[in-house]
Amino acid sequence: MHIVKYVAFESDVSLARLLIETTKNVGKAVPGFLGEVHAEAFTSSTEVAIRADIVLICHSLYGQANKLAIIQSAARFVAKDGLLVVFHRWEQAGTLANISDALRSNGTLHELRRINVKFNASHLTNLEGRSTTEKYMKQKLPPLHSENQIVQRSIGLLAIEPQNCCLTMQIPPQVGWVAKMKTSKPFGVLSPMTIVGIQSCVRHASFCGAPLSVIGGGHSGHCIRDGTLSLDLRPGWSTVFVDPEARLVHAGGGATLGQIAKAAQCHGLVVPLGDRPGVGMGSVLSGGLGYLARRFGLSCDNITRVVYISPDGKLSIAETDEDLWCFRGAGSNFGVVVEITLRAFPLVVMATQDSFYALGINRDCIRANLIEYARVSYNLPIEASLDAFIYHANDEGMVLATSLFDTSDTEEFRCGQLAGLQQPVLSNSQMIHQLNPSAHTPVQLFDRELYMTPAFDPKRFAESPPSKLRSFKRCILLPTFHDGDGDIAKILADAVHCSMPNKWCYIHILHVGKASSLVVPAFTAFGNRSCEYAVVITGLWPEDSKEMKVKTESWVENIADCLVSVYGCGVYGADLGPGDHDTLLATHAFGSNLPKLVDLKNRLDPLRIFTSTCPLQLAPLLAPQGVVILICGRRFAGKDWVASVIERVLNTTLTSGGTRIAQIASISDSVKSHYAKEVGLDFVSFHDRAVKELHRKELTIFYEMCKASDPAFDRRCYVDLVQQGTKSGGILIVTGVRDGLDYVHELAGGRAVVTVHVQASREAKCHRGWVFDSNIDDSKSEEAAECACEGFFDHTFHNNDSSGDESALSKWVIEELAPTVLRSCVRQLKGYPTPGAIFKDILSITQQRFGIGLSSSLLAWGLHLDQFDIILAPEAGGWIFASPLAERFQKPLLLARRIGRLPGGVISSDYSGSNIAFLKQGQIQARHILELTAGCIQPCQRVLIVDDCLASGRTLLALFKLVTSQGAPPTTIQLLPLEEYERSILRTHRNELDRFPISVGIDDVNVVGETTNSRDDWETIEHPAAEVIRIFKDGEDGDVKGEGGEEDYHSPNGGKKKNGKGERQRRRKKITPITARELARALSGGKRPKSDEEDGNLRRGETIDGDDVDDGGRYMRVPKFWDPAPYGMIADERERRGSGGGDIVPDDAPRQPRDGVRRYLGEYGTRLMTPDEARSIGSRIPGGSGGDGDYLETIFVAIASYRDWQCSRTVESIFSRASHPERIRVGVVDQIRIGIDDPCSRPPHGTCESHPEQAACVRTSQIDYLTVDASLSVGPVFARHLGHRMYRGEYFAMQSDAHVEFVMGWDDEIIEQWKSARNEMAILTAYVSGTEDHINVETGERLSKSRPIMCMSDFEGGGDGTRHLRHGQQPEGVPYIHDMPTIEPFWAAGFSFGRGHFVVNVPYDQHLPWIFQGEEISIGLRGFSYGYDYYTPERQACYHYYGRTGVPLFWENNDIYRGSGTYGMNRLNAIIHMTVTPSTKWIRTDELKYGIGKVRDVQKFFDVFGIHVKEQRVEGNLCRFVGRPMQAQFIPHLRSNGMGIDYDTITFRYVDNKRDDALGRG
Ligand SMILES: Cc1cc2nc3c(=O)[nH]c(=O)nc-3n(C[C@H](O)[C@H](O)[C@H](O)COP(=O)(O)OP(=O)(O)OC[C@H]3O[C@@H](n4cnc5c(N)ncnc54)[C@H](O)[C@@H]3O)c2cc1C
Repeated sequence: MHIVKYVAFESDVSLARLLIETTKNVGKAVPGFLGEVHAEAFTSSTEVAIRADIVLICHSLYGQANKLAIIQSAARFVAKDGLLVVFHRWEQAGTLANISDALRSNGTLHELRRINVKFNASHLTNLEGRSTTEKYMKQKLPPLHSENQIVQRSIGLLAIEPQNCCLTMQIPPQVGWVAKMKTSKPFGVLSPMTIVGIQSCVRHASFCGAPLSVIGGGHSGHCIRDGTLSLDLRPGWSTVFVDPEARLVHAGGGATLGQIAKAAQCHGLVVPLGDRPGVGMGSVLSGGLGYLARRFGLSCDNITRVVYISPDGKLSIAETDEDLWCFRGAGSNFGVVVEITLRAFPLVVMATQDSFYALGINRDCIRANLIEYARVSYNLPIEASLDAFIYHANDEGMVLATSLFDTSDTEEFRCGQLAGLQQPVLSNSQMIHQLNPSAHTPVQLFDRELYMTPAFDPKRFAESPPSKLRSFKRCILLPTFHDGDGDIAKILADAVHCSMPNKWCYIHILHVGKASSLVVPAFTAFGNRSCEYAVVITGLWPEDSKEMKVKTESWVENIADCLVSVYGCGVYGADLGPGDHDTLLATHAFGSNLPKLVDLKNRLDPLRIFTSTCPLQLAPLLAPQGVVILICGRRFAGKDWVASVIERVLNTTLTSGGTRIAQIASISDSVKSHYAKEVGLDFVSFHDRAVKELHRKELTIFYEMCKASDPAFDRRCYVDLVQQGTKSGGILIVTGVRDGLDYVHELAGGRAVVTVHVQASREAKCHRGWVFDSNIDDSKSEEAAECACEGFFDHTFHNNDSSGDESALSKWVIEELAPTVLRSCVRQLKGYPTPGAIFKDILSITQQRFGIGLSSSLLAWGLHLDQFDIILAPEAGGWIFASPLAERFQKPLLLARRIGRLPGGVISSDYSGSNIAFLKQGQIQARHILELTAGCIQPCQRVLIVDDCLASGRTLLALFKLVTSQGAPPTTIQLLPLEEYERSILRTHRNELDRFPISVGIDDVNVVGETTNSRDDWETIEHPAAEVIRIFKDGEDGDVKGEGGEEDYHSPNGGKKKNGKGERQRRRKKITPITARELARALSGGKRPKSDEEDGNLRRGETIDGDDVDDGGRYMRVPKFWDPAPYGMIADERERRGSGGGDIVPDDAPRQPRDGVRRYLGEYGTRLMTPDEARSIGSRIPGGSGGDGDYLETIFVAIASYRDWQCSRTVESIFSRASHPERIRVGVVDQIRIGIDDPCSRPPHGTCESHPEQAACVRTSQIDYLTVDASLSVGPVFARHLGHRMYRGEYFAMQSDAHVEFVMGWDDEIIEQWKSARNEMAILTAYVSGTEDHINVETGERLSKSRPIMCMSDFEGGGDGTRHLRHGQQPEGVPYIHDMPTIEPFWAAGFSFGRGHFVVNVPYDQHLPWIFQGEEISIGLRGFSYGYDYYTPERQACYHYYGRTGVPLFWENNDIYRGSGTYGMNRLNAIIHMTVTPSTKWIRTDELKYGIGKVRDVQKFFDVFGIHVKEQRVEGNLCRFVGRPMQAQFIPHLRSNGMGIDYDTITFRYVDNKRDDALGRG
């Protein structure tokens, strides 16, 4: 900084005199220097005549009010780029700290520094003087006569930059960035105009932990990202200065290639640069590929000097090859480049010529043409390069366009003649046309680049002009492929011929090689030097098509992956940024230079400020280097004790041979070491308690000062600590991290981090001496110490035992923490061996120095010497991990070997392999054979099988078979405790689980009963009424009779009116008993007997005992419940482990039930699902902003329809009114008289030919119709049961009636409402209001805000055990509660919307024939007992057509089935514990499947909501409580992880206090 104007204020006269002297001396030495020193304090009324470069204020703030205002006033007199410097006493949490916080927040703080001043007080003998000094210094002086009179004092220096760029936030105007700005939320976009300004920004970024990027030309797409602080250098930093003599070009960090080329050209010079004028410094710093690279090397090869601001905010210059090394290829990772100097070459004119060839119509032809191109280009001299473009031209199909650049710059060129140019011709290719050769200057060339010119067939854009195209490109460096070896040309041919997602995409082959490949790879960071071509795969898509975006990006990525993994010599790093896929690609961007670069990055940018660029990480390739266990928690939680026990267990119980594998370090150690350095002490001396105590206060002040002047100080301490502590590659237990935890993973420098949260109850803390202090306990740092973000902590340890008993903690360390530590050491490779896969290299555990020891200790844990006689292990992991066990237990070790490696007689077992080698070759199911020497296992020997982990379990099974084939007794199995098994199974199958839509496969045969559907996911079930007959036949007909005279709960007219739609008449009627004959006839398709030939409808079954009728109709083929295999695999494995890991059950062993998904999801409600389990359910599809990020959650809608002409209209409205119809799948159970009724599948508005836009025509793959003969209908419960069978893993599951009208945008709206409940277990459910007055049925517009709430219920029915709870008419009104649904006690069948796991966990019961009333309390209670909560939506999704007349109802079958209803109702009530004297007459089949869960006791439900089962009565007026009071009482009990209301903490019991009052008034 050049200082010429200087103004100082010093209120201490003697000091002012000194200052005046010094200033005069400076004035003499510096010509033009203007200095003013005022011997007075600066106040808010002071005026200064000049604008100074430095304004200095000393001792002015003492005693003045509002010091910040004074500083701001002084700032007015600072010139542009100048500094205001303030000296003031430093106090802990005092003035300067507060002021600096304020200045930091407006971005003007340049620096805050503490200066320790020592002075001798021995000259202060006068008592009055001493006391004034003490007052002034705010500290006591040593006693007058004491020997040591040295006093230390802290002064703060505050440097402020009032004209700081941070005040001038701006949004860059150019198109690309504006688009980026629209979609990203950068931390800020700033245009610093001075070096100091840039330095401030760099520091600011480190303060805030925000990544910093520079907007160069804006072409990478990474310079503006979410949360990034972006510096726009264009406004002040794009000047280009050319030194023609030295042939050097000096360009500002914001200059573009166009500006550099133009400036150089004015002096007859050229710089090898990229081909687009708008591209910026990002390209030069990352390589710089262009048509001149072949002759003059890459741009980065020609960098001779870089002026930059380093990550620590210092201005630095790199001039030597060593210093320039990282800027030549990876520069954007190491600082903000403000100026760069590039070598230039004399060259004025280039000659070019473009030619166009037909690429061919098939893959082989395309491939041949590409090889021809490679042959011709490869043979060109250094002066010429031949670029190629492969694109789709409308008229000519795929075209190969070549562009020759001749830089030989002969005399003829300058005269405008092009005689020297020899256009190389692809003689074996069919030329379409060729342009004349022409001469261009470098700047002109920018305008003519082939694909930007009309020659590049503008028609292909005109074909269907998209509003705006977005692009995504990746560039792979490739060797020559002219000899057709390997098959680069084949991959490219495939890419353009088979998989190109649209006609706008293209591939550009830049011809480089020669000079650019002559540089020694180690000489610059750009390490991939053996390439001849840079192949840029460019995907384009219309801006508004998300679907096309996903498709196109994955096209680009797939080709890049394919090329790089098979043939590539590298990836061009300039386009890469943060993100999983790029991180993996980036490991190929620097060749063998990567380790050196990562090391440099760790040292020079430890806080990882420059991360919005090509990632520098070894992590994807290497196993972590050491492990950090981070212990966090509030004070008195017992963190130190927990840390010490962890250390002890790891170093004793879990190690062999007494090796220490773990050590504890506290962040305060790092602070101490910084402090020791500053005060010149040896850090080791701090181990002495006395020294520590002596410095305690100073240390605290030091820390606060450091934090005030460098808010990233704690992060630096953390980086120091982990770098020091894990040097030996052990486990470092870090305590004392307080101010924020968000950085601990990122800054661990390639170490694995395991996070532990120590929690303690209030009582436990009090017992340890904790007293609440709001200043401390509510402080930011105390809160930050336990960072609330979900999923942050790997483990939580509840440290509530105050007795100091270590046993529970030790057990937890061994069983929970240590396995996590081991797991964290497994190196993971994303996208390997196939895209989307994650490769976990278990054997990388051995790369930790503690890996084998810890593994074998964990394997040995719980094993006893007398449990087994020999150990058996398969190669390779098993061998490694079993060996130490054999040694430890002194047992023989048998090694199972692959086929053909053992001599003599062998026993063998084969299995299908799934390992990496096979996956890579695409042979997923290849067979392996494991062998053992015959006779090595004796029948009496007990075998311990040891392997590393369980992937598919096939190896283990093969070993198991080997052992059992020898007649050996049950085997013990030990695996490394890598619980990842479950997640990896689900992850591996994610594509399968996310598949949508999945049809249940009845579209071809659409009449249940007429199907012989043999699909695996269909099964045969017994019709529920037939089941009643079969089971109760022995009890004679009387048992299956309905009992006339009772209140008819299953009467068609027994239903009370819903929502005021008319009280249904009650009717008593003698119920005719059902007979087997009648049933059989009904099941056979009506009242006519069936002949064998006609018996297609229903499968023939056994005869009904004792009856002489043909019972061909007892069975039905129906879809199986959704139950994907991965859940079953996990459930099986859990069972196996649950049984002590002792026995493995072979695959073919019968196990009941096989219901894998429900065993996985909390074991049929035995326990509450975990959030992970719940989350694992639900498919999503790529889509718009209506869903979760770029994905849309899918919705399954189940509809049970009985001869309903409105069914098809309902289906139509589901799709046509949805915002995202593509996310919906409908399953209709269509009960019709076949041949008489219109099926629901018939489009409502005419045929598909006349009205093809109808959902029934367009969305056929998203609708399944399960057509059932109406004569089989036994009521809605069974129909809805069939509906639940049609669910296929959708994210949400919904049910509605078949005659409803949906509102516009219902899908987004109902999802939003569901999400606003923040409850994974929320089910939005309510009776549906009528269409009248509520919806415009033509437009789908909602007309009313009112909605019902489910709170009214009472007992009804006979006293014989069939009395049941029935929800009556529900109150309806405008909701009081907004922005979230209102909680309610009851579930409604008319509308229910929740997560897919609801219908998996609580499916409709298959065995409830003839139930109409009572189904709701049954599902409601079952759901409650599984942990579900019911809410009424604030806005209804659909409205119901009530009051319909002449519509057939299932009561038509009354005479046939009604008798079975008694048994249905008995079962219903018995299962939900709602009968006083349960009947023995109920079907007990599948009690577990359709029973109640154990998460909540149903008695709790009865207690809370005032239901008296014994007395068969309910408390009245519950609706007065449901609504605001219930919301206020219950919502606070929602579990913090969103897994439902915790009823264990609810003591509320509803009692009708108004009862008497009501009765009195009644
Ligand atoms: C249409 C198009 C054509 C292209 N043509 C070529 C080509 O012919 N040859 C070629 O080699 N590449 C080419 N590229 C790729 C290009 O080199 C990279 O995208 C490069 O990263 C763009 O640099 P930029 O400065 O324009 O981008 P930006 O997005 O502004 O910056 C890219 C990265 O560089 C960093 N950066 C920028 N300026 C500075 C600075 N002064 N100091 C420190 N870091 C800085 C940024 O922080 C960011 O991380 C092209 C890309 C596109 C989109």
